[in-house]
Amino acid sequence: MSFSELGLSENIVRAVTEQGYTTPTPIQKQAIPAVISGGDLLAGAQTGTGKTAGFTLPILQRLSTSAITPKNKTDRRPIRTLVLTPTRELAAQVEESVSTYGKYTNLNSGVIFGGVGINPQIKLLKNGVDILVATPGRLLDHHQQGTIDLRNIEILVLDEADRMLDMGFIHDIKKVLAILPPKRQNLLFSATFSDEIKTLADRLLNNPAMIEVARRNSTVEVIAQKVHPVDRDKKHPLLAHLIKTHQWNQVLVFTRTKHGANKLVEQLAKDGINGMAIHGNKSQSARTKALSEFKDGSLTVLVATDIAARGIDIDQLPHVVNYDLPNVPEDYVHRIGRTGRAGATGEAVSLVCVDEFKLLADIEKLIKRQLPQEIIDGFIPDPHAKAQPIQLRSFQGQPRGNSGGGNNGGNRPRQNAPARSGNVSTASQGKPAQRSGDARHPSRPVVKQSTPRRSGGRGGA
Ligand code: AMP
Repeated sequence: MSFSELGLSENIVRAVTEQGYTTPTPIQKQAIPAVISGGDLLAGAQTGTGKTAGFTLPILQRLSTSAITPKNKTDRRPIRTLVLTPTRELAAQVEESVSTYGKYTNLNSGVIFGGVGINPQIKLLKNGVDILVATPGRLLDHHQQGTIDLRNIEILVLDEADRMLDMGFIHDIKKVLAILPPKRQNLLFSATFSDEIKTLADRLLNNPAMIEVARRNSTVEVIAQKVHPVDRDKKHPLLAHLIKTHQWNQVLVFTRTKHGANKLVEQLAKDGINGMAIHGNKSQSARTKALSEFKDGSLTVLVATDIAARGIDIDQLPHVVNYDLPNVPEDYVHRIGRTGRAGATGEAVSLVCVDEFKLLADIEKLIKRQLPQEIIDGFIPDPHAKAQPIQLRSFQGQPRGNSGGGNNGGNRPRQNAPARSGNVSTASQGKPAQRSGDARHPSRPVVKQSTPRRSGGRGGA
């Protein structure tokens, strides 16, 4: 199956071919004809599946072949498609994709998000764009100021809708829906289907085509996953050891807190390892700089909190390290989804101390598999170490939308923070790690060599 067989015209296929894509991914095979047909769509797809091209390509196709019928009398191009994303970084990436795939069409695109000056965006909107990518907060700011005209929207995309709800954007989304023309095509993309998402889909979509390409909460099969049991205070030297001995040169590292991210960057610098942190206390320009240096290969380590990292798309990112395990098991799946994208292989390693055995058990339950464990020579965990409660200082008493990453596009607080604030007590069943066996299952052998998991081809990627 080729891209042109899916109904895309030559000028779009040409741009796609230039990107090196020869075959559409499973989501693209299904979504492209569905969107071209003009109906609504409910798509279950994780990031890494090629979903962005899955909606961008058919939108370009539709807009380039249908006539514009502006409902207002201005000379500027009316905004015909609105794509809403949960984070600034994702908004920027989606717009980059739109402009890459649309380079041989006569359509143009723009992006607006919070944390940066509003004036250049006002200018952009004045000149007019066919496809606008936005975070909800800044979009509403423009609406309130009267600097945006949404009366000609023909297609609305909610990208990563589950994350938008998770970050407290439901009220903003409802406000946006209320100002859009009622007759339009709606596309909703979400990695998971909570009751909240189903309610939103019921309200938004009219007789939608339904597509699901990756099983809910399944980890992408092409990612080799491994656990290194280690003492709490040896995580940093172990990470430096792994980076140096394996000569990793592009590593995305997740910490639980902003403070932990900053501290780790300082510690790595002392080892001569070049790293930067992205989290909610960093300015938008610092985050953009860190991300672009990481993407172009001049920065070895990017340390991120969960929300700051959402939606980051880096082609063929080889290594993801869970320096701290996430306290919400689903975040593990999101984190390791940064690697092994769209057919590329990747490796995700987790540095797990005695405090985190319960979190590890929860993750393994969610992904329905036990992760192989490997104790690294020189980093054998103390078998008598006692679990301590995990402090989640950055999250304590704060709404989630403003905590881990703060990149919520408009600095709007989350309305109903989930039960991830506060302390998590650790594993009562947490047993000290044994060199001869699995830390929690003494009968289970510890894997001494890396055992890449490649079962079942690309899986959800
Ligand atoms: P997404 O799920 O949209 O975040 O896309 C994940 C990655 O897959 C991006 O880096 C895209 O450049 C890449 N990609 C998208 N479509 C294809 C394709 N048909 N073949 C190969 N790579 C693709």
